[in-house]
Amino acid sequence: MIKELILEEILQIISGRLVQRGSTGAINHITTDSRKIISGKDSLYIALEGSKYNGHDFVSAVYQEGIRYFILKEGHLPQEEFPDATILAVSDTVAALQALARWNRQLFGGPVLAIAGSNGKTIVKEWLGQVLGTIHSVAKSPKSYNSQIGVPLSIFGMEAYHKVAILEAGISKAGEMEKLEHMIAPTLGIFTNLGTAHDEGFSDRDEKLKEKLLLFRQSRLIIYRKDQVDIARVLEDTFPAEKLVSWSSSPGAHYTLSVKKDGNRTKILLMQPDLSLNSFETDFSDEASLENLRHVIVGALTLGMPVRDIQEGIRGLKPLEMRLSVKQGLYNSTIIDDTYNNDVAGLEVALEFLSNQRPKRRKILILSDLPQAGDLVRVYQQVCHLIQHYQLDYIYGVGQDIRRLAAYFPQNSLVFEDTNALIQHLNPVDLENDLVLVKGARKYGFESIVNHLQERIHGTTLEINLNALSHNYNFYKGKLRPGTKIMAMVKAFAYGGGSVEIANQLQQLKTDYLAVAYTDEGVLLRNNGIHLPIMVLNPDPQGFHNLLKYQLDPAVYSLEFFEKIGKFCQARDARLNIHLDMDTGMRRLGFEQDHIPALGQLIAKYPQLTINSIYTHLVGADEEVHEDFTLTQLKRFEAMSGLVKGFLNYPVLLHALNSAGILRYPEYQFDMVRLGIGLYGIEVTGLYHKSLRPISTLRTTISQIKHLAKGESIGYGRKGLMEKDGKIATIPIGYADGYDRRFSNGKGYVSVHGQRAKVIGNVCMDMCMVDITEIDARVGDEVIIYGENPSVIDLAENIGTIPYELLTSISDRVKRIYYMD
Ligand SMILES: *Cc1c(COP(=O)(O)O)cnc(C)c1O
Repeated sequence: MIKELILEEILQIISGRLVQRGSTGAINHITTDSRKIISGKDSLYIALEGSKYNGHDFVSAVYQEGIRYFILKEGHLPQEEFPDATILAVSDTVAALQALARWNRQLFGGPVLAIAGSNGKTIVKEWLGQVLGTIHSVAKSPKSYNSQIGVPLSIFGMEAYHKVAILEAGISKAGEMEKLEHMIAPTLGIFTNLGTAHDEGFSDRDEKLKEKLLLFRQSRLIIYRKDQVDIARVLEDTFPAEKLVSWSSSPGAHYTLSVKKDGNRTKILLMQPDLSLNSFETDFSDEASLENLRHVIVGALTLGMPVRDIQEGIRGLKPLEMRLSVKQGLYNSTIIDDTYNNDVAGLEVALEFLSNQRPKRRKILILSDLPQAGDLVRVYQQVCHLIQHYQLDYIYGVGQDIRRLAAYFPQNSLVFEDTNALIQHLNPVDLENDLVLVKGARKYGFESIVNHLQERIHGTTLEINLNALSHNYNFYKGKLRPGTKIMAMVKAFAYGGGSVEIANQLQQLKTDYLAVAYTDEGVLLRNNGIHLPIMVLNPDPQGFHNLLKYQLDPAVYSLEFFEKIGKFCQARDARLNIHLDMDTGMRRLGFEQDHIPALGQLIAKYPQLTINSIYTHLVGADEEVHEDFTLTQLKRFEAMSGLVKGFLNYPVLLHALNSAGILRYPEYQFDMVRLGIGLYGIEVTGLYHKSLRPISTLRTTISQIKHLAKGESIGYGRKGLMEKDGKIATIPIGYADGYDRRFSNGKGYVSVHGQRAKVIGNVCMDMCMVDITEIDARVGDEVIIYGENPSVIDLAENIGTIPYELLTSISDRVKRIYYMD
């Protein structure tokens, strides 16, 4: 919500042209996303153009939602009539958005802290917001909104009642920071660190650093780490000494923040400029988190927060990636766990996430008060809007303030004094088959509600990051022409990730087609609310009736099969969309060149089958050595599909490229591509491996630790031997979970506290042992089997297989957990 604006003011701020004067009511919201309109009548829609969408295409949809104010780009004004709409035209809609942001920023009187740097921006922002939020009302950018468009949207969330605002600023090329600085005008800054991300956009590291530092041109104070010598040098050359606030792990900076590790706890010792000493306790022990925490401590001190409150705030921090996670609840409910903090921006993100899940019986919200809400009336009014917009079926409230909203809650909703009272009342069976969002501020301890509702998870889990999936999808989409369709491959349980949730996310991303291997896989998706077209690669004749019943499109790969399915449809007077598979070199399934005339006759004979697409599959698109063969395949495909098209009097889609093909042979994208492994974060050509994000992390915890003497043997067949005195950890994952037995005896390794621990001895059915002689670890500590590190690609190579096999062999008994970071 922004401060109320009227037409004349808007015109002045954006220096636009009034094309049509209609409604002239005041504006309280600015939106750029047609799907997120909470309150149509007092919102202004700004149409932006991205590489993947054009906001001008949604003017009519937005008008339907009740919006009457539009800022559009000159030359993109609508042909249709929009009665009562006020339309403004500008030459650059992003610039108009930014001008409005700058205007909103200037109304804010409190300190504005901006965070720049290569890594850690989002986590420092979230943590600092969390710590400050225990005593103040804080405005902060949602998610990692730090771009030319994200920053304005963050600024619109800054309101008069907030005591402080925290924004992050990210750039990918030269020239961008100046615009961000102009909008944010930070009074304070934190520079986290400098990595290699986005190096392409800059001529060298110093240029990148200098560009980033433009953000702080007008800031009063800038916080940085002095023992990052090359950064400190540039900062100290650029800014006068009185603006700089430094910290370092050894003496010599304003704040000395050294780290002491003691078993599972870590202590950060602080010496302030007045030589006073304090310490902070935390569960984090990895380097990156400790650096981020120390930025948070100095940030909070600089903003005048008492040490005691900071100590308290630091204690409850959690890793970010676990913020919004989906868990399997009791009685087939689905629980969305967001028990970390509670403010309006976070509530909106969580409700949107809820509405994007596959539908269940009812949508339920369990919501605590919003502490530090500042302006209660205004904040709870926004909460009411959200509750109405997202059409919840039932709400359980916890707290005092929330009681006032009860009148706006769906019928019979209940409000409880405290968390315990709710748990006493709530029987998990009441939420059978429901989708439940548990959203509460930290002090309400809503983890205990999640515990109460959740199915117990033992040991090993596979965590799937749905945002990373979207990132990978968009990466490939960005490599294609705008009109090329994408068929996403969700066969084999979506390469092990879980087909329903992943298909649901792909449905949100508006993928054009899905493909599964077998009919049953398609039926499962249809039974879970997936309505996209689905191709079945290898349909079994016994499942033909299910193709009809569930509207699944079979791939047809031989004359016999065509005849069979044609007869089946003819006998029932039914129609099916089919896809024709051409064998151009795979020698697996598919029509061959000399089948084509007979295929033509069958097409004529069975008009109940509509040919939706014609495709082929490449055998070596990932490897350069096979380039000649690949090109031969593609040429053959062009010739064969050309002949088949000759039999048809309607349009048909052609497709040949898999993930590797999209990157190596984009000129052969035809009408559609089939995206598989790349979606799941694995770039098999090796050309762009840094551009993808791994989507899955396989984790477990240590069951037991044993101290062994040199020469002792470990496990079946006595294959593991201690080379010196040391210790091993037993972890609950074995070959029955899909942990390949070839990882035995040092071929595989896992990560414990970021350090490598080799498998020792043979992998057992349900367990294995790893060597942790050099690692300081305890029972219950987390173990990463694969994810960012170790990566599936490296592990597969170690045992001479391919990532596809490792991904798809994780067994069903390993629980899948979905989250968005
Ligand atoms: C699995 C599959 C794909 C996807 O291949 P990736 O290498 O995972 O991108 C494409 N087409 C067909 C026919 C497939 O079976």
